[in-house]
Amino acid sequence: MPSAQPTTRSDELMRTARTVIPGGVNSPVRAFRSVGGTPRFMASGTGPWLTDVDGNRYVDLICSWGPMILGHAHPDVEQAVREAAAKGFSFGTPSENEVLLAAEIVDRVAPLEQVRLVSSGTEATMSALRLARGATGRSKVVKFAGCYHGHVDALLAAAGSGLATFALPDSAGVPVSSAHETIVLPYNDVSAVEAAFAEHGDEIACVITEAAAGNMGVVPPEPGFTAALRRITREHGALLISDEVMTGFRCSAAGWYGLEGEPEGGAPDLFTFGKVMGGGFPAAAFGGSAELMSRLAPDGPVYQAGTLSGNPVATAAGLATLRGCTAAVYDRLTQVSDALIAGATEALNVAGVPHVIGRAGSMFNVFFREERVRDYDDARDQDTAAFGRFFHSMLQQGVHLPPSAFESWFVSASHDDEAVDAVLAALPTAAAAAAAA
Ligand SMILES: *Cc1c(COP(=O)(O)O)cnc(C)c1O
Repeated sequence: MPSAQPTTRSDELMRTARTVIPGGVNSPVRAFRSVGGTPRFMASGTGPWLTDVDGNRYVDLICSWGPMILGHAHPDVEQAVREAAAKGFSFGTPSENEVLLAAEIVDRVAPLEQVRLVSSGTEATMSALRLARGATGRSKVVKFAGCYHGHVDALLAAAGSGLATFALPDSAGVPVSSAHETIVLPYNDVSAVEAAFAEHGDEIACVITEAAAGNMGVVPPEPGFTAALRRITREHGALLISDEVMTGFRCSAAGWYGLEGEPEGGAPDLFTFGKVMGGGFPAAAFGGSAELMSRLAPDGPVYQAGTLSGNPVATAAGLATLRGCTAAVYDRLTQVSDALIAGATEALNVAGVPHVIGRAGSMFNVFFREERVRDYDDARDQDTAAFGRFFHSMLQQGVHLPPSAFESWFVSASHDDEAVDAVLAALPTAAAAAAAA
């Protein structure tokens, strides 16, 4: 499709970026590899809108991959950041905001008694894994194919052939020895979990799962799946880690846990958080019972630390964001998601494009296939070329979707009727583009 939009500055920046940054980007999905074309470099954002360096304006459906739940440059968050920054950027001593943010998180998610603050979701899951291994004295980890938990060695593992066999590295640079400590199973498959534990139950430190999967597109756990994980881990003395880095404080005030309710048999042992709780700054956390968390240094033998952990500016942003997440915010997220799902479904139906919606609370995406998606094999069995055409048509019309068929679309409470209508108006043309092979 011929571009009506100027892209000269973005193209120039990308050329320079490629010379000084690998692939031109600091996180691979930003490079547009799966949809083709050159990424747009953003200059500013306000509410639901992004403006790129060539002056093109977009409705943002990435929202920084989740953190911008209140919209860009929300006045309350901006003020909190300014006030914090004016008092100094980092002390390397305890400071008040980290206590307030930890308390805010613990208040929201009932099973949590304590959280340790870190700077990224990757750090949160890496540290939770170490704690689980330290607490159980075991080394093996179960994860599910298609679930992403950050770029932790042991979690960048792909399924080996056959159930309950050890995994293979999914990235160069991950030692086979590290991947071999990981067992990768199909998501939503209780019998695979049973089989893995029947064979290796006394070696498994923990099961880590996305509370609701959002990194293979959106695939919620089937009813009873989380409860089954709880039951099986408990039977074998392993811990259950619920990764709520994406779902936390987005699916509800208490994340997916709040939406799904406590699984029969009890809550997960450890939770990980990131994204929303940093309000767009680097802040993340992991937490659980006081007893379990007491195994961390300085009280316990499991070492974990961070120069910028609990950073006063980042925690101010996170605190202002969480405090801004009122019931009205969650209502609006639901309304916006409902409206966009209805619009996308209608447009794709009219254009005759096979599709199915994946949804977990206000996280959702379109899979370009007919049948329901239950796991990663299903998610991969879709028409990604159709998504690419759809994506570029939306982009041309001023709507910036995540540049991959395997990502959630993210909305914010600042997506007002103008922004929603702009997306709805773009959908029929994009659906037609998806249909035209
Ligand atoms: C984004 C994400 C992570 C990694 O967080 P980073 O801050 O990117 O390191 C971990 N787990 C889940 C479920 C995520 O969505």
